Amino acid sequence: MQQWDVIVIGAGAAGLMCAIEAGKRGRSVLVLDNGKRVGRKILMSGGGRCNFTNMYAAPENFLSQNKHFCKSALSRYTQWDFIALVQKHAIAYHEKTLGQLFCDDSAKDIVDMLLSEAKAANVQIALQQNISDVSFADGQYTVITPELSRRCHSVVVASGGLSLPNLGATAFGFQLAEQFGLKVLPLRAALVPLTWQPSDKAVFEEISGVSLPVTAEANGTMFPEDMLFTHRGLSGPAILQISSYWQPGDEVLVNMAPQTDLVEFLTAQQQAHPEQEVKTALGKLLPKRLVEKLLELNVFANQPLKALNPKSIKQIADSLHGYIFKPNGTEGYRTAEVTIGGVDTDYLSSKTMEAKQQPGLYFIGEVVDVTGWLGGYNFQWAWASGWVAGQYC
Ligand SMILES: Cc1cc2nc3c(=O)[nH]c(=O)nc-3n(C[C@H](O)[C@H](O)[C@H](O)COP(=O)(O)OP(=O)(O)OC[C@H]3O[C@@H](n4cnc5c(N)ncnc54)[C@H](O)[C@@H]3O)c2cc1C
Repeated sequence: MQQWDVIVIGAGAAGLMCAIEAGKRGRSVLVLDNGKRVGRKILMSGGGRCNFTNMYAAPENFLSQNKHFCKSALSRYTQWDFIALVQKHAIAYHEKTLGQLFCDDSAKDIVDMLLSEAKAANVQIALQQNISDVSFADGQYTVITPELSRRCHSVVVASGGLSLPNLGATAFGFQLAEQFGLKVLPLRAALVPLTWQPSDKAVFEEISGVSLPVTAEANGTMFPEDMLFTHRGLSGPAILQISSYWQPGDEVLVNMAPQTDLVEFLTAQQQAHPEQEVKTALGKLLPKRLVEKLLELNVFANQPLKALNPKSIKQIADSLHGYIFKPNGTEGYRTAEVTIGGVDTDYLSSKTMEAKQQPGLYFIGEVVDVTGWLGGYNFQWAWASGWVAGQYC
């Protein structure tokens, strides 16, 4: 039977960071992963360039039943700490938008950086490991795979969420939490495209590929970013963001011209070009294919601007500033970037990420009920929670 100080389950962002930190403390650390390679989500993240953190990351950018839980880890290992690590490895990066930092070349730079740090900290990694059981007796854990039983003092669960099952995602971490008496809060796909009702699909699928800047709002939260029409529904950053706040049955309120007061715009157009048609005027602001669809849906009637009165101008403006979509659902874990919900933070120490009632058992990263916005926040949570656990496990 092999003996280790720490076994980390999951060689993703959180697991590798934790293993590195524990290794630096002189702990013997083994990372077990079910996949053929480490950091598979890192490799495919950010369109292959990994949006590895966000310059403005703050607790407000995270969803959790306990919104205070993430504060400790995020303040002890900040985005600036991770940026310093990236700089130490001379990885070129840039800000794309809204504080989102991406590699100039490839997400592989981040994985190589983590592997080089892991090697320096004497971390061992075993891939394609199918863990069948984890048990606890006499102050030690036994982790069993078909080939081997291994004992350790600490088990760190970093097995991630349920998104992208074809990339190795499993419910392992949630099941293990329940096995040891921790509560798991309801799980759902987030940062995920929303799908059409059949009636909307018939109308809008023809304009798939059209995108425009909007604000999207659900349940009192609003995001100003781009929205994209697809064959299946709505996507783009504004929709992915709002999907985390959307619940089945909810409406999504979309302002299709957030930068323009449409009453002022249409009134000015009317004065300058009274013979112009409404659709031509709106086509100066919105994608023309979308304007055609809105016309088809009788959101406005196509008539010369001079025929509009202040009331009809306001009606057009209101319907475009507050267009209501009622999605059928989401595309689910197949395309979701993250899983909302997970191990209830009430059962964990925010300082160490250790289970309060189960010494030596830690949960970090996405398996925990802390979910970031789109834009590098989820990796920052993975780094921060992994770093924190690595100081204690
Ligand atoms: C397509 C896509 C793009 C993304 N882009 C970004 C981005 O640019 N920026 C950002 O901040 N976030 C992004 N995310 C989210 C981010 O990838 C995750 O939040 C982050 O990877 C979570 O880290 P983690 O270590 O908790 O889990 P993961 O990175 O998912 O790692 C978990 C590891 O555990 C392994 N595992 C699972 N089950 C078992 C088991 N039973 N036994 C052994 N090992 C197991 C998995 O194979 C995996 O290697 C993206 C997600 C997706 C799906």
